[in-house]
Amino acid sequence: MTLNHLLWLSPAAGTTADCIGDDTRMLSYAEVDTLARAFAEQLTELGVSQGDVVGVMLENSIELVVGILGTWLVGAIATPINPTFTERELTYQLGDSEASLLLADEATLGRVPGIRTRALPVTEMRTAPTRETERRTTDAGEIALLIYTSGSTGQPKGVMLDHANLNAMTTSFVDHVDMTEADRALLVLPMFHVNAISLSWLSPITVGGSTVIVKRFAPVPFTEAVARHRPTFFSAVPAILARLVELPPEIAPDFSSVRFVICGAAPVSRELLQLSAERFNLRIIEGYGLTEGTCASTCNPLEGPHKLGSVGPVLPGQRIKLTDDKGNPVPTGERGEIRISGPNVMRGYLGRPEATAETIVDGWLRTGDVGVLDEDGYLRIVDRMKDMIIRGGENIYPKEIETHLATHPAVLEAAVVGAPHATLGEVPVAFVVALPGAQVNSEELIAHCAEGLAKIKVPAELTVVEELPRNPVGKIDKPELRRRVAAVSS
Ligand code: ATP
Repeated sequence: MTLNHLLWLSPAAGTTADCIGDDTRMLSYAEVDTLARAFAEQLTELGVSQGDVVGVMLENSIELVVGILGTWLVGAIATPINPTFTERELTYQLGDSEASLLLADEATLGRVPGIRTRALPVTEMRTAPTRETERRTTDAGEIALLIYTSGSTGQPKGVMLDHANLNAMTTSFVDHVDMTEADRALLVLPMFHVNAISLSWLSPITVGGSTVIVKRFAPVPFTEAVARHRPTFFSAVPAILARLVELPPEIAPDFSSVRFVICGAAPVSRELLQLSAERFNLRIIEGYGLTEGTCASTCNPLEGPHKLGSVGPVLPGQRIKLTDDKGNPVPTGERGEIRISGPNVMRGYLGRPEATAETIVDGWLRTGDVGVLDEDGYLRIVDRMKDMIIRGGENIYPKEIETHLATHPAVLEAAVVGAPHATLGEVPVAFVVALPGAQVNSEELIAHCAEGLAKIKVPAELTVVEELPRNPVGKIDKPELRRRVAAVSS
């Protein structure tokens, strides 16, 4: 199968319709195509060829999009890198991916002087092709992206996604939300994650729509960008909704152009969903997925029953099943590990055949998430096996403790991680944020846990904190909490 028909690589993209923009300019498909061809030509001159890896370490920008497209045009693989990475983290990703070139801005290159990989400052990107080169045909099986997991379950691993994976993901999402050329995304999540790339960039351009890029989220500038660019949808994480509902009541954003918001990546409370939907008159559909599945695997429907607390039914072209430890399906309504199959499932982890074999079993992707499917095929996420705490041989799911803590009237949110313990192996430790204006102390909250949870699940320690650390996509940064706990107990 060849994919030269795909708009993101095809000459059919040579129209004057809007394609990609930011606050300062909007480029047509033809203009983006020219920039991508110019960069591809430059990459070839720099010795980059098919199968090579190009590190793209930029903030959300048109240059980042062109950097990836140009890389694909020469048959190479793009690995987007978090622009806030330290030298250690950057060196790890460049080394693990064996990147042959790094595209970054001057400030970054100045900040991390020890980079061994050849670097190209973004200001030196070529903007016009110097000659007519024949367009190569892209094979669907060529790896397109190498996205690194955040490493909450060990060393960050490079997830290999090919063009067929991206094609499957965008087709699935486009069908689910009936996306057309009239759609315009406001892209605000960081582009070193697959969510922003597949839902907010590739999906709209697959159907001739457009994307406006926002560098990073801040509540007031974001609402202004929505009013100015009139997007028809955006992809959000719960932390974005939480910041938007905190806006003072006199700020009344104009979200009238937005036909839906997809929210996922982390658990979102019903209260937050309802509050943001009502306050901004938005249709918010919750979805679920992971990098290894090229982003979204389930999503509540735009039309039809939207079940609060559920992440919806499986997306077109994919299948999910819930299984016990041995991989046998569990009955409807019972908890099981979520497994996903379909053309969206990654090709594997780069250079880690064992981890790949553990994760993709008989063609099914083991997600490490625990869910329940109802009789209508709607999925509810109930736990994360990856976060499990083992206390003296007993399995404890942090989510159960977090959910119980959240039932306390003074609690806004809670996070629970395992702390090393000399005899029990691990014990649960909680971090709690109180609701604004509420007064609560650790003893009271531990007593609340003791009332509703088995003794082994009651946190050994509980700290009330101002806020919880979050990673760049707004997920609670559990590795950071584990580090804090380990630092105290060592
Ligand atoms: P790492 O793989 O490095 O440990 P990660 O698990 O956060 O990091 P991602 O691929 O970014 O990797 O996120 C996927 C995970 O996010 C899922 O496995 C699931 O645990 C969680 N998730 C995604 N969407 C939702 C949702 N709607 N509700 C609850 N959890 C979600």
